[in-house]
Amino acid sequence: VKATNDEEAAARVTAVDADTGAPTIFDKIIAKEIPSSIVYEDDKVLAFRDISSQAPVHVLIIPKFRDGLTQLGKAEQRHGEVLGHLLYAAKLVAEKEGIVDGFRVVINSGPSACQSVYHLHLHVLGGRQMKWPPG
Ligand code: 5GP
Repeated sequence: VKATNDEEAAARVTAVDADTGAPTIFDKIIAKEIPSSIVYEDDKVLAFRDISSQAPVHVLIIPKFRDGLTQLGKAEQRHGEVLGHLLYAAKLVAEKEGIVDGFRVVINSGPSACQSVYHLHLHVLGGRQMKWPPG
């Protein structure tokens, strides 16, 4: 029981440390200070290819104004509009990429979900048969 408590405590510490609210690499991508392969863009969101693709189509969609949305687990009522728009953008990206008949949208929120960049993002994956359950 003690080991479990220690593990839980360690996970909580990691969670606090990982989400510092500091700017991320995605801010540089939005500012076009570092290049990315952009698939879709409007005034609210930017969609670009993941640098380490896990499927033939693997696109990330991010809000241009993070507004505290470091992770889905920090979402507040005021974020509702942009969250909805991100999902709609996922459908537009799927259409553009020719995978609208079958695609997956993933949001990793927090360390237990292996979130590595603390600027909310949707993964749009497709172009191959997906498996369930995910790892
Ligand atoms: P997470 O693990 O946080 O859900 O996903 C972060 C994703 O961002 C990863 O799939 C990773 O490959 C991607 N990524 C990290 N840095 C860059 C980058 O500089 N450019 C692009 N295009 N993708 C990135």
